[in-house]
Amino acid sequence: MSTSKRFETTVIHEGYDAKDMLGSLSTPLFQTSTFTFDSAEQGEKRFAGEEDGYIYSRLGNPTVRVLEERIAKLEQGERGLAFASGMAAVSAVLIALTKANDHIICSSGLYGCTFGLLTMMKEKYNISHDFSSMDSAETIKELIRPETTCIYVETPINPTMKLIDLQMVAAVAKEYDIPVVVDNTFSSPYLQRPLELGCDVVLHSATKYIGGHGDVVAGLVVGKKEFLDSVAMTTQKDIGGIISPFDAWLLLRGLKTLPVRLDRHSDNAEEIFLKLKAHPKIAHVYYPSDENHPDYPIYEKQMKRGGGVIAFTVDGTKEDAQALLNKLSFLKIAVSLGDAETLIEHPATMTHSVIPEAERIQMGITDQLIRISIGLEAAEDIWSDLEQALNQL
Ligand SMILES: *Cc1c(COP(=O)(O)O)cnc(C)c1O
Repeated sequence: MSTSKRFETTVIHEGYDAKDMLGSLSTPLFQTSTFTFDSAEQGEKRFAGEEDGYIYSRLGNPTVRVLEERIAKLEQGERGLAFASGMAAVSAVLIALTKANDHIICSSGLYGCTFGLLTMMKEKYNISHDFSSMDSAETIKELIRPETTCIYVETPINPTMKLIDLQMVAAVAKEYDIPVVVDNTFSSPYLQRPLELGCDVVLHSATKYIGGHGDVVAGLVVGKKEFLDSVAMTTQKDIGGIISPFDAWLLLRGLKTLPVRLDRHSDNAEEIFLKLKAHPKIAHVYYPSDENHPDYPIYEKQMKRGGGVIAFTVDGTKEDAQALLNKLSFLKIAVSLGDAETLIEHPATMTHSVIPEAERIQMGITDQLIRISIGLEAAEDIWSDLEQALNQL
């Protein structure tokens, strides 16, 4: 497909031509582990890389290939790779970029399991890490060492919705020739495209907005062909966290409505954000497109809309925060985000409970903080359930 197509068209058509597949409108599901060769010589050529073609599904699969081409185009990268989970994607990238005794600089505020992985890499391989607020070039530069091989960023930061200026981070990293990896799960390429801002690698928990229907766990990575080729042949092929063809098929299905869904998630979230802000039982509300937030200029530079996730603190105790969840009638208590259903959770005791208390509080994840992933239900119904629960506190 030509590069001039818009996002809303690319998300439906890129990487697939029905003419190649007997006219099938929907991308066929190649639910196969292996591929047959016409001859021993053909098998030899495929293994030697002298002939294109499939060998074995851990090395490539036609359904997965469509997904990888589509996400690469949506993120404006050269190549995409699909994984069994967001964490399989995160670990494949971080292991590919480091060796024993290297150093990683990461945003202060990280997905809980990414934090767990970094802790394990420190213990097993002495790959150390430093957290940085990344609120200026200097705060990053003062942490850079000769052995720093990766800058790892989440923005908006989960769950506090703090933003990091990706163009600024990319400029600093370029000076020192250090690759910048961005976890773009919360925004999806519809709302934010880190590669266009100068970053090197973008990854996703596709479990969230890209899948969008709460029925698949998967991960995606996009970047330069050279780097992704090396990940495909090492930390993907040999560690093996590949996506199943069926899960790739589900993601292709979910992706088609990504822009429609994210506009609706954002419409609903904007409405709920204003209602939460005005409620007397609520102390603070965090949402990326809040005009009064100090990070608003960053939002305007790099995000299209605020997305579906809001965090807020109740004016009370941990028990009050938990009581709010328990009083809800139809909104679901669950971790994860980006689904049609509104999902609400308590980060301190759920998604971020592995982080030691002092670090957790420093990241702004207090016992009163609640994260809500606003779904696609009617905003009026979402609010009336939240309001009746808040009024019982
Ligand atoms: C969920 C999530 C992950 C991990 O993804 P899985 O698909 O659950 O393995 C990583 N980063 C962020 C920001 C997430 O929300």
